[in-house]
Amino acid sequence: MKGAALLIVDVQNDFCPGGSLPVAEGDEVVPVLNGYVTLFRAKGLPVFASRDWHQADSRHFRVNGGIWPVHCVQGTDGAGFHPGLLLPHDVVVFSKGMGPGEEGYSSFDGVDENGIPLSAFLKKKGVENIFVGGLATDYCVRYTVLDGLAKGFAVTVLVDAIRGVNLEPGDSEEAVREMVKAGAFLATLECLEGIPQ
Ligand SMILES: [Zn+2]
Repeated sequence: MKGAALLIVDVQNDFCPGGSLPVAEGDEVVPVLNGYVTLFRAKGLPVFASRDWHQADSRHFRVNGGIWPVHCVQGTDGAGFHPGLLLPHDVVVFSKGMGPGEEGYSSFDGVDENGIPLSAFLKKKGVENIFVGGLATDYCVRYTVLDGLAKGFAVTVLVDAIRGVNLEPGDSEEAVREMVKAGAFLATLECLEGIPQ
């Protein structure tokens, strides 16, 4: 798994049950992602996380002309990572959707605390192969995976660590089909744990 990295997409309180834009069973990805974090750390591979990080007046929100309820406003509890998610102490976080008109669906729209975009950061670190899990399958995971493929990364979707919004029934299944058609691989924790190095 040389050149591999784990990318955890938007496992934030507002996207979990009890949040303002909850994904059904969104919190069920947490223990599985913790298993992936352990696995990647054991192999000495980096872990990254993205987060929605909107301003209160974002046009992404229904009240301001968008389609979504207010969620993941900078500095609020709802924007915090799920408390059960065991992110490593040196995790690099990429924030997205910060501009007033930005949807920020893709983690590749995100920047780290120094303003470095995800793609540039991964290339600098020699990452060629990203493993993606988190929320939500049919939005931020989907956009992140398609963007990663378009930017030349090998991308694996961690199918046991994603859950979808499903505005329309079947959106998540359709998103997985679309990602595979675009060139993504699918994997589970059990199957990755079987890989020696
Ligand atoms: Zn958002």
